[in-house]
Amino acid sequence: MKNRIYLDYNATAPLHPRALDAMKVVLECEHGAHNASAVHHFGREGRKTIENARKNVAALVNADSNMLIFNSGATEGNNTVLKHMASAYPDDIILISAAEHPSVLDGAEMLDNVRLIPMLSNGLIDLDALKNLLSNNRVSLVSCMFVNNESGAIQDVSKISALAHDSGALFHCDATQAVGRIAVDMKALNIDFLTFSSHKIGGPQGAAALALGLCGQTPSLLFGGGQEKQLRSGTENIAAIAGFGAAARAAIDGLDDYQKLSVLRDKLECKIKEISPNIEIHCEDNARVCNTSFFSVPDANSQSLLMAFDLENIAISNGSACSSGTVKPSKTLRAMGKDEKNASSALRISMGWATKEDDIDAFLKAWAKIYARIQK
Ligand code: PMP
Repeated sequence: MKNRIYLDYNATAPLHPRALDAMKVVLECEHGAHNASAVHHFGREGRKTIENARKNVAALVNADSNMLIFNSGATEGNNTVLKHMASAYPDDIILISAAEHPSVLDGAEMLDNVRLIPMLSNGLIDLDALKNLLSNNRVSLVSCMFVNNESGAIQDVSKISALAHDSGALFHCDATQAVGRIAVDMKALNIDFLTFSSHKIGGPQGAAALALGLCGQTPSLLFGGGQEKQLRSGTENIAAIAGFGAAARAAIDGLDDYQKLSVLRDKLECKIKEISPNIEIHCEDNARVCNTSFFSVPDANSQSLLMAFDLENIAISNGSACSSGTVKPSKTLRAMGKDEKNASSALRISMGWATKEDDIDAFLKAWAKIYARIQK
């Protein structure tokens, strides 16, 4: 069997063994699937599993576990918050950063009352522009991701939250790429709506959370059986939720260790610069999560590079969320003011719980070969 190297954790992280074990317990138990709303023994067992997972997932972000709703993905959480705020405050505007994930950006395009907060060339939100937008408009919600999925840049969430609240707006933070990588404290940061997803931290796909702060809002997208305190109808996916809970616990236990990935990231970037001195590493001088490296390769094309790496059995990405298998120019780089060529030549390496130094060495060996080829 080929030794395949996986360096695309920001797209999805491999299932953590603790998540797999927790899911097996649910899937292999007597009668398999449970319906946690049922009053009988099996229903009660399912309910226990969900509530146990809820405690672990809430602990990961210091949320109140009574105020944490399970759903299917950060996409659902982001849509739920935006649609709720747009319909609850139709006369006010919503501010979102120009480098949000498509589940915020494209969702917002369908709403009438959304304005974009511009980005600086270093990948951070332009806080002066945000202040201006807040003082010249009636704003119901500011929505900004904690960590950018492409560049790994960490926003000053504490400042953005304070600016939003000072002007009377609520604050939504998409922390999908932050949880498990850095400490996220929903209460300390005074976040009203926090969204994040299981599959970025080694849990299964199809499970995620929307945690509510003390703002008193009750956003809901789906109606029906009234599960999740009437806020998210639909029979709970207990196995996925159990896996999410176990992955959250593993992420809490492993957060200090996780920071050691910065040693691998630094080695990677140092050697890449030696091999290819003309590459541009994005957001290099800001606070970044330690698992991500994002760079552009002059005169190259992301799609061809990704295919070349795939032939070397190395899975990486260009960073942009892609749903159709086609590689698009990086939206984050465009929002940072980079030109189309720069945004079409980006590569993202993202690491996680199973990444080893050997993986980075294999990447570097392949890069030296591919780079020499494209220089010809
Ligand atoms: N927000 C961010 C920042 C993401 O990186 C992603 C996943 N690429 C999402 C939202 C969507 O998450 P999900 O796949 O759980 O819907």
